[in-house]
Amino acid sequence: NTFAEIDLGEALNQNIRRCKYVKPTPVQRHAIPISLGGRDLMACAQTGSGKTAAFCFPIISGIMREQYVQRPRGARTVYPLALILSPTRELSCQIHEEARKFSYQTGVKVVVAYGGAPINQQLRELERGVDILVATPGRLVDLLERARVSLQMIRYLALDEADRMLDMGFEPQIRKIVEQMDMPPRGVRQTMLFSATFPKEIQRMASDFLANYIFLAV
Ligand code: AMP
Repeated sequence: NTFAEIDLGEALNQNIRRCKYVKPTPVQRHAIPISLGGRDLMACAQTGSGKTAAFCFPIISGIMREQYVQRPRGARTVYPLALILSPTRELSCQIHEEARKFSYQTGVKVVVAYGGAPINQQLRELERGVDILVATPGRLVDLLERARVSLQMIRYLALDEADRMLDMGFEPQIRKIVEQMDMPPRGVRQTMLFSATFPKEIQRMASDFLANYIFLAV
């Protein structure tokens, strides 16, 4: 019933305390152990439910163990280990800020890329290295087409507000993005899909992108 009881690693636990989180919210209490256990997850979560931490904690905890794996060194291509997709610039920036707090002094590097803003600053940020990339779908497709980001090493994929991304017409971009992760050589990818509603389009996405997943409705 407290974060200290969940095995997230000492550095992350310290950051959680620093954020003054004591008790996990219901979605956190159920989603975090499922993700730490390695299972794919589709979770029902509204804004304010604490879903950001629910997908960030397992990702950061996992990356802390994996950030030293050998990654290819393209001339200007970076190879993030985790990708968090969200529908808007505002939400992406919020997730980026929270993820940065949670990963303080862990060595895990978080970078954000969103559309509607000049790309050059984001490219410079990416060039300094990235473990967790937070992105909106359109801007990420742009970065992939420029070969500035490769998704070949992605171990964790989180889709936040998936229903809103579909409402905004991002399904083709999302499919293009996930296709690139499925190109060999690919390691084992763990996927988390968060959505407030579950129309048939979301269910289809879940069956296309998730493997043997647990559906969590809290
Ligand atoms: P979210 O649903 O992820 O946007 O989170 C909503 C708000 O709740 C944010 O301001 C979080 O910082 C805060 N929050 C999330 N989880 C907890 C927690 N376990 N304890 C206290 N505050 C939290």
